[in-house]
Amino acid sequence: MPYAFERLALIEGVIARSPLGLITDVDGTISEIVPTPREARVSPLCRRYLTLLCRQLALVAVVSGRPAVEVRDMVGVTGVVYVGNHGLERWTKNRVEPSGSARDYFKIVRSAFEELSSRLSMEGVTLEDKGLSLTVHYRLSPHHEVAEREILDVLAASERARDLRVVRGRLALNLLPPVEINKGTAVLDLIRDYSLQGGLYLGDDLTDIDAFGAVRSAAAGSNFRGLAIGVTSAEMPEGLVKAADLTLNGVDDVGRFLKWLSQNVPQPS
Ligand SMILES: [Mg+2]
Repeated sequence: MPYAFERLALIEGVIARSPLGLITDVDGTISEIVPTPREARVSPLCRRYLTLLCRQLALVAVVSGRPAVEVRDMVGVTGVVYVGNHGLERWTKNRVEPSGSARDYFKIVRSAFEELSSRLSMEGVTLEDKGLSLTVHYRLSPHHEVAEREILDVLAASERARDLRVVRGRLALNLLPPVEINKGTAVLDLIRDYSLQGGLYLGDDLTDIDAFGAVRSAAAGSNFRGLAIGVTSAEMPEGLVKAADLTLNGVDDVGRFLKWLSQNVPQPS
């Protein structure tokens, strides 16, 4: 797919539309991937331009697999809409709102966490409790493929985790309620709720591919036009680049792109 900075005319066509929205993933997109999620920091350049873009666009939203409250604390820009837990919840009006039927699964996720926390005691494997979902991280395990297989075996044998959906991430497995909510449905909700006519989506991971598809399907039969921008890295999942309209090369490049966007987005008249 073409490199975003080589297709600026195409991007200018989308950002001329109004209301315009920017929706971005966090980890691997505006913050570098680090050994443990707690160490992750949003790049100062990205934060600076997200702050400016909040005043320029109808919507700046961040969509992440992290809980909405954690995303808000991590990004820390007033005016950003924070969608957490892969679309299962949204931070809005100073509180977290679960999306649709997600709230019904809170107890099931709780009991799965209790069962798995004793069973997943493998080297370099950690289980993260995110409220409405769980994530098993194996980035720190000595053999990634072996660890992934062992984790999947534990999940298949777990009575309580069996009811949850397994979604692969970057050296992590996400356990989500079995509802049709993902980053794609979250993006469609945002486009509708903010009546967007134009939009850009930035993401680096498998779960972002749903959002890329949403940007495309939102354009069908409507006036909305959007572009899906895949953020490339050495460990990007197969299919990411093919699913994107354009690419950027890593978090630093995203910072440069947000700067360009802030400097080129039409000023409200
Ligand atoms: Mg990511």
